[in-house]
Amino acid sequence: MYDSARRDVVPFVPLRPGQVRMYNCGPTVYDWQHIGNLYAYVVADVVRRTFEYAGYAVRQVMNITDVGHIVGDVDEGEDKMEIAAKRERKDPQALAAMYADRFFEDRHKLNIMDPTVVSKATDHIPQMIALIETLLEKGHAYVAADGVYYDVTTFPGYGTRLNPELPEERQAGARIDVNPNKRHAYDFALWRAAKPGDLQQWDSPWGRGNPGWHIECSAMSMAYLGETFDIHTGGEDHLFPHHECEIAQSEGATGKPFVRYWMHVRFLQVEGRGMHKSTGNTYVVSDLEAKGFDPLAFRLMGLNSGYRKPLNFTWRGLEDEQRRLDRWRSAIAGAALSAKATAAADADNVRQAFVAAITDDFNTPRALAVAEDAIALLSSPDRADRSRGLGLLFDIDRVLGLGLAAWCESATAIDDEAKALLAAREGARAAGDYARSDKLRDELREQGYVVKDTKEGQRWERVPVRMKKDS
Ligand SMILES: [Zn+2]
Repeated sequence: MYDSARRDVVPFVPLRPGQVRMYNCGPTVYDWQHIGNLYAYVVADVVRRTFEYAGYAVRQVMNITDVGHIVGDVDEGEDKMEIAAKRERKDPQALAAMYADRFFEDRHKLNIMDPTVVSKATDHIPQMIALIETLLEKGHAYVAADGVYYDVTTFPGYGTRLNPELPEERQAGARIDVNPNKRHAYDFALWRAAKPGDLQQWDSPWGRGNPGWHIECSAMSMAYLGETFDIHTGGEDHLFPHHECEIAQSEGATGKPFVRYWMHVRFLQVEGRGMHKSTGNTYVVSDLEAKGFDPLAFRLMGLNSGYRKPLNFTWRGLEDEQRRLDRWRSAIAGAALSAKATAAADADNVRQAFVAAITDDFNTPRALAVAEDAIALLSSPDRADRSRGLGLLFDIDRVLGLGLAAWCESATAIDDEAKALLAAREGARAAGDYARSDKLRDELREQGYVVKDTKEGQRWERVPVRMKKDS
């Protein structure tokens, strides 16, 4: 896998044999999560599924930021939760719970597995305070009039562990309002003294206040995964400052390596341009559904892009992936009515090609191409080929996560009434009563079954529930 710290593809060696400990930077739950945010969790889900497929036990931790994330990822300014709570006239905790629920609903629509542990920042204030105390004891932090700051000059290489150099515009101070309480422009807040009207504040050794965003992830990841763990994921926007700050905090406090592999997902763009609220091109999952798309078509689009280059979201591209999803589902249901899936053999060349793709830095575009080879087997006249194709697809889908096996089961289930209609229709055709046969076919269609006549007799398929509207 590619490691952002080494800037190279390196072999994955777990800290503990057979185990993977992974932390995913979670959302700030002050609003709906757009599809760009959700895409990063699709990638993390594929990482988890890949390791589980390879037989590892994966402990996956994701945080929920419900305090401390300042607009613009800097120290000065207002907390995103505070702004949203005032905007929607809700208690910050009620608002956070509502948007966290919506986030999980959307994740489920994208078939993203729930993490082993979901940790809310506001439930871990004592752990953050303890970590800040350690940093003060070790001389990495100092108390100022408006809070506690990390002194970046005490941590050699600050800002350059994942990045080639400290970004220039920050050196020039363009995005940092020079706060006279800070010793250096790059120092960042670990704890902020409460301002009048702050809706979320806690007692601390430094007075009432609230935690910085970066300290949340250091405290919670180490609480659940230990001082050193295997994989830390995030979006490319986390490269600086968030993850550089996490490294400085965790390694400053423990003196041990923090993370063994850093993984950053490139941004999602819309029609080749950045997605911004100001340009009105941000989309949420329900926007895709409103246009008649299955959210899993978006998952496919993410898989087809690969996480190390920007994902270019276009409606046309989404239509292509929806067509692919429909085609796969139809081929799977068709084959499943006449063949039974056989377990994929380790030595199977298609399976081996899939394993080679997915273990090459999670190369999902190549994995999809391999899956197409398995799809091709489904239309073979040989039943053994169709069985093999089904087995391969259900196996591969443990990583792709398109829910193909569950979908196949529901698509090939038939109720007694429809069974009786099919039998009646077979009888009508045998008797040459085509008018009645056509009438029965219409009735079946109304019940949600499409009947086709083939050389081997009538075949049926479930009518897709999804109704495509004009987009
Ligand atoms: Zn984080």
